[in-house]
Amino acid sequence: MIFGGIEAGGTKWVCAIGSGPGQLDDTVVIPTTNPDETIGRAADFFARRDGLAAVGVGSFGPVDLRTGRITTTPKVGWGGIELVDRLRERLDLPVVLDTDVNAAALGEHRWGAAVGLETFFYVTVGTGIGGGGLVEGRLVHGLLHPEVGHMRIPHDRDRDPFDGVCPYHEDCLEGLASGRALEARWGRRAEEIDDEEAWALEAEYLALGLVNLVCTVSPQRIVVGGGVAKRPGLLPLVRRRVCELAAGYVAAAELEEGIDEYIVPPALDDRAGVLGAIELAREALAS
Ligand code: ZN
Repeated sequence: MIFGGIEAGGTKWVCAIGSGPGQLDDTVVIPTTNPDETIGRAADFFARRDGLAAVGVGSFGPVDLRTGRITTTPKVGWGGIELVDRLRERLDLPVVLDTDVNAAALGEHRWGAAVGLETFFYVTVGTGIGGGGLVEGRLVHGLLHPEVGHMRIPHDRDRDPFDGVCPYHEDCLEGLASGRALEARWGRRAEEIDDEEAWALEAEYLALGLVNLVCTVSPQRIVVGGGVAKRPGLLPLVRRRVCELAAGYVAAAELEEGIDEYIVPPALDDRAGVLGAIELAREALAS
């Protein structure tokens, strides 16, 4: 069976048709403008293809998975948008929604760096920070869905007087360590920052966030994706600080000599989200 997948991001939507990494028939990238235009262009892309069984969507959020809406996003024009209903009306197909990071986690679970694991997390560090994952084989939802980027972490204002960029919390993890935060603190884009102290600070914040995940979810692995996380040398710094901060309390080899296989980059690279969206559609029909 052939499925549609949408990685619906705040700057672009990646749409694909297929059934897996080696079987992507067609993909298109659509800039995220206003909802009418963006949803319309995505629907046009899928409507041209006969025989689609369902469409999965991994969306930026926050989203309300019960109603299929985007909720409190600061992105102008997108708050309250009925994403699922609009796509369903246009396509007359089952449409399944989850968060962008849960979709990416699902993709990595099916084909990537988390194959065979029951409990793991996928964290993305890009323009924003988010996380999703599986616990005992099921995507985590709960009250709404995890908001890993908005967890509160210690902020040493002597070392880092920067207030943070989150409009809700200022100095949550996303507020201090996202690409947006790096740019605001250092006055240049993340890829242009070469200062060692800047990356040591970034590693510190990310490690604090990951240690909190280790202590709450007890993941068997943490996959760290996103544009900022691609910075050469950053993941090794994060791994070292995670081990130091865990301080031997969590008695697992993964937090000592096994750390290189515990905190890993995504195996599907930038395709985790859209492939995970396809897997969302497949799983929804299979259940
Ligand atoms: Zn926040």
